[in-house]
Amino acid sequence: MQAVSRFSKVLIVLLISLGLAYYWLLVNAGPGGIAARQIDLPALRAEADSLSGKRPTGITFAVLATRSIPSASLAAGTGLRQVTEGIVAWQIATPKGGIVVDTGLSPADAEAMGYSDYDPAAMRKVDSWMGAAEQILFTHSHIDHVGRFLDHPEFDAISPKALVTSGMLGGINALWRENGSHIAKTRNLAPIEAVAPGVVVIQTPGHTPASQMVYVRLASGREYLLTGDTASLAANFENGTPRSRLVAD
Ligand SMILES: [Zn+2]
Repeated sequence: MQAVSRFSKVLIVLLISLGLAYYWLLVNAGPGGIAARQIDLPALRAEADSLSGKRPTGITFAVLATRSIPSASLAAGTGLRQVTEGIVAWQIATPKGGIVVDTGLSPADAEAMGYSDYDPAAMRKVDSWMGAAEQILFTHSHIDHVGRFLDHPEFDAISPKALVTSGMLGGINALWRENGSHIAKTRNLAPIEAVAPGVVVIQTPGHTPASQMVYVRLASGREYLLTGDTASLAANFENGTPRSRLVAD
């Protein structure tokens, strides 16, 4: 009986430990009481109209790779149901060759992050978007958002088109990629600043110190908000829940 009782105690302690670890890593996302970031839509629309010229006509995207991960890792407290997470690059159609937002990453980096279904055709498409683009923007400087830019076969030709803030360059330098050291200039932006007609960059530090979102208003009036990793799943903005501690970085 003594042995069984000791076994039960160990089991209870183990279960409590697992429960606490689950709560800490996948339910509780960190310090509470941080006010949700408000988006001032009238101000964004006014800023989007502040530059003269034609607004973009469309927006498209390419998925370079996907993987399945628990919902709770990207939105704390949403459970262990598997969701598909994709590495996405965006192209905003403009009269001058387009604006690329986030470029995805190269096959070796995708494999290192646990992505197994890398799409080389999507990579070539994103490479050609960067080649033709008038501007290249990033939501933040994690490798899955800037990696393919840094590995572009004609990096020195395309890199002057990238809008890199000084904070973002710090993140790029931390990746220790040779091409990162070729980036000659940075440009810091106002809290909300139009970078092309209908395209506004919003400073949203959090996921990284220099994270930003991109608001797009097409010629048709349709509006988009490219949130990067600030909000990966609908639950992030519908429930106001951030990433879990497990993958917060
Ligand atoms: Zn990230």
